[in-house]
Amino acid sequence: MLIAGTVIADPDTVIDDGAVVVDGARIVAVGGADDLREEYPDHDRREFDLVAPGLVGGHVHSVQSLGRGIADDKPLLDWLFDAVLPMEAAMDAEATRAAAELGYLECLESGTTTVVDHLSVNHASEAFEAAIETGIRARLGKVLMDRRSPEGLEERAETGLAESEALIREYHGAADRRVRYAVTPRFAVTCSEACLRGCRELADSYDGVTIHTHASENVDEIETVEEETGMRNVCWLDEVGLTGPDVTLAHCVHTDERERELLAETDTVVTHCPSSNMKLASGIAPIHDYLDRGITVALGNDGPPCNNTLDPFTEMRQASLLGKVDALDPTRLPAATVLEMATANGARAAGFDRIGRLEPGYRADVIGLTTDRTRATPIHDPLSHLVYAAHGDDVVFAMVDGTVRYDDGEHVGVDVEAVRSRATRHAERVVEAAGIDTPNR
Ligand SMILES: [Zn+2]
Repeated sequence: MLIAGTVIADPDTVIDDGAVVVDGARIVAVGGADDLREEYPDHDRREFDLVAPGLVGGHVHSVQSLGRGIADDKPLLDWLFDAVLPMEAAMDAEATRAAAELGYLECLESGTTTVVDHLSVNHASEAFEAAIETGIRARLGKVLMDRRSPEGLEERAETGLAESEALIREYHGAADRRVRYAVTPRFAVTCSEACLRGCRELADSYDGVTIHTHASENVDEIETVEEETGMRNVCWLDEVGLTGPDVTLAHCVHTDERERELLAETDTVVTHCPSSNMKLASGIAPIHDYLDRGITVALGNDGPPCNNTLDPFTEMRQASLLGKVDALDPTRLPAATVLEMATANGARAAGFDRIGRLEPGYRADVIGLTTDRTRATPIHDPLSHLVYAAHGDDVVFAMVDGTVRYDDGEHVGVDVEAVRSRATRHAERVVEAAGIDTPNR
């Protein structure tokens, strides 16, 4: 396929009248459209106003999709223990499947072609199946919680680790390596030392398995860890083996000098979730400082109960604006930097080589956007438009690994109405079973 348009190949390369040529699962050429049409006369042709690399959601919770709007305007730990965890505990296999499908379809239709997905304790295999079926590229893992957790979610560390290992054997590398495993402890507060050390041991036992967890999102969280271990949270995670180039830590809002040095020294990846941090009033993550130290920072939406959407364009815009106001400097976190966070840095968070830019030899994860919008008129700078003005709804085309998954505003081979109606039905049932008060009830 030859995909033509204004091509934003990476944050530094914009080609007017450009094209991307895809053969099988890979990009084989990127350049001027006229030349490539001549060179590849027999390829199917598609044309979009803007063509960009598929974006990477560096920290999402697809299975929380049924809880969109269940816990607005609450502090993090109430939000978590009074609503989100009871919801997760009440979810059966069918509800988990419906939530994951809904989440992945939302991602694909708004331009996210890769996710780093923090699932739940139970029924994780349903999300793996949903990832395989919907075609999204995914790094995902069953959640481990072996203490301070509600009934239905808490399980012994050995049980959680054994189930994680079974999932690694079944799914790590599935769908031509499009689906990969991350060992996923929830956070230090709900995981014992044995559990955290066990996570490192398990990840080291399988080639390419990584680690994904939450860290230092909230002041109460870091105080709890400090009281218990006498160490700052990131220092504690380092002590038990949960730092390193194969570790993605979501948030890292509250870190001190030593913790930041550790993140840099160990080449740990941080995922910044600006909407979630603002909505839960967690604080402002020190992103300038991380980037100045050479720490890789990706972007994530976090979950629908704390965002409330999985639109990656919102996250790019919020990251830039929050970074500027944090520094009181409008030159910080410019469009190119946040696009890098949502693409190449996201690729590192997800642990996939050769995604996150449009370049020959890279996997064909490509999105097409329309600019047939009043708010897209005029466009002086395509990169500025992509980061500051575009919305997920502008995405009309998404290809993952060379397969078209979303085309002309429609999911390919998926009955999206059926997925939405299943999700709505399960959401009502699960929220009621969990005893969560919502304004609709
Ligand atoms: Zn999260």
